[in-house]
Amino acid sequence: MARYTGPVCKLCRREGVKLFLKGDKCITKCTFERRSSKPGQHGTSRARKESGYAKQLREKQKVRRTYGVLERQFRKHFVSAARRPGKTSENLLQILEMRLDNLVYRLGFADSRAQARQLVCHGHFAVNGRKTDIPSFIAKPNDVIAVRERSKGTEYFKTRALLLAQKSVCSWLSLDIDTMTGRVITIPSRADLEMPFEEQMVVEFYQR
Ligand code: SF4
Repeated sequence: MARYTGPVCKLCRREGVKLFLKGDKCITKCTFERRSSKPGQHGTSRARKESGYAKQLREKQKVRRTYGVLERQFRKHFVSAARRPGKTSENLLQILEMRLDNLVYRLGFADSRAQARQLVCHGHFAVNGRKTDIPSFIAKPNDVIAVRERSKGTEYFKTRALLLAQKSVCSWLSLDIDTMTGRVITIPSRADLEMPFEEQMVVEFYQR
């Protein structure tokens, strides 16, 4: 399964905002706070006025990079969002939020979406009792995401259980730490997602 393997902090510098792609390190040791210029030879040159297209492109890249999705998959999510009734921009964010890797991250089983993706790929999770190792799997309300029995005994998940006791999960998810099981209560509304995106620009980018 293809994924981005280049330098991660460079993506934050390119987008000009912290995308929080490295978990706790983003709070304790953030590169962007020390060096926020754009990457590349002309990164420190005087900023030029951005065209409408450039703004839409940057917003699309920001959303895509935050969720760790490559262009082809992101476009597929967009097509599926456009087919659903309601606002395409909101549908897109909801689809991204319901991806299995994102849910594993939101439930606190991983510090970042990239780590969540790796845990899913390595077969540590089951959805509704069935092993699921596809990060782009889209969950539905009432789906149960659980750490598989054989993985619960690993050092990683033992430590994670202790950390989870100190954290809280989003209002649209529930978590049982004793059984290491999470449940999707409902699809989050835009108000539930505190993401600093102008997602309408993503729609404009693809519909231009
Ligand atoms: Fe971005 Fe995190 Fe790197 Fe900071 S540490 S630049 S927030 S990925």
